Amino acid sequence: MTRFAGALAALCLAAAATTAVVAAGPATAAPACSVGYRVNQWQTGYTAEITVTNGATALSSWTLTWHYTGNQAVTSAWNATVRQSGTAVTAESLPYNAALPAGGSVSFGVQGTSGGTTPDPTDFALNGVSCGDPAPPVTTTPTTPATTTTAPPPAGCATATICDDFEQQTGGAPGGRWTVGAANCQGTGTVAVDTTVAHSGTRSVQVAGQGGYCNHAFFGTSLTGAGPFFGRFWVRHTTPLPAGHVTFLAMRDSTDGRDLRAGGQNRALQWNRESDDATLPAQSPAGVAQSVPLPTGTWSCFEFELDGAAGHLRTWLGSAEVPGLVADGVPTADVDQQWLARAWHPSVTDLRLGWESYGADADTLWFDDVAVGATRIGC
Ligand code: CA
Repeated sequence: MTRFAGALAALCLAAAATTAVVAAGPATAAPACSVGYRVNQWQTGYTAEITVTNGATALSSWTLTWHYTGNQAVTSAWNATVRQSGTAVTAESLPYNAALPAGGSVSFGVQGTSGGTTPDPTDFALNGVSCGDPAPPVTTTPTTPATTTTAPPPAGCATATICDDFEQQTGGAPGGRWTVGAANCQGTGTVAVDTTVAHSGTRSVQVAGQGGYCNHAFFGTSLTGAGPFFGRFWVRHTTPLPAGHVTFLAMRDSTDGRDLRAGGQNRALQWNRESDDATLPAQSPAGVAQSVPLPTGTWSCFEFELDGAAGHLRTWLGSAEVPGLVADGVPTADVDQQWLARAWHPSVTDLRLGWESYGADADTLWFDDVAVGATRIGC
């Protein structure tokens, strides 16, 4: 997962307009660290990607400090916890990128306001050890106007293992951490980056899902372990959830080799366990009434908690918990009788978003701002 986070950070800043490299100390001495600082600035703000390369001593966690000499004020960060006091800035590692082996590198980023002045900092220190007397910064001539901005990091999920707003996608099928595919058979369903519809920025992923199982289409990424996982994504779709059974989120459970599915049935949201076809809630009228439809033509925030060790599942739509979509181990009439019929401790290996119909139901959906973390991320 660290690999994904690093790759994402690198992609975020691929369009950085200027580059400064602060070299380590004398060439004859083993450097304690070196820092690459890539900034993209506009009239009132900036983003910077900072890549720290460690020296010869492995670190179990890291703190990078520096001072700004301009008017920079950090307002947000990704892949690190960043604090600023006056001109002094402190960036601390997060649990998923804390370990920094000898010679290893880690990247994180900041966004801030600048009042137009963003001289590159030069006094970086890693865990209190100076990265050396800096050579004069090498600053390339900006190749884009100062008003050009890169996409800011995805809002609100910088500490999550997965935090993706798709703004780094260049078109066609989503790439990077995402793989497009469909199990068993492939039909006419399609998955593509859409630059005309977005919850954040200018990009989302569109799934044109068709009726019939083999016309299913998903894009997915790996997950590891029993969690607890807190997932959050924004979804927009076209056709109301049908009476028939459909899926827009699937996670492969390695304990039984089948999917844990979220989607709909009887026009309301439901979870379905492929291995025994248990549904949550039960599909009685009283059960369905404890779930909710998925609104069409607008972005909805779907959140879930999956705790494999406890065998618990919770679900929120628009930040409101959906009572029919809760499996907390305590039997609830019309909700979880099927679900609790067998011991269930899922260990999921991936997260896939898309469309799968077990009847003839088609829908066009968009997904954006997908995040998975160890704590609830929120909308
Ligand atoms: Ca987006």
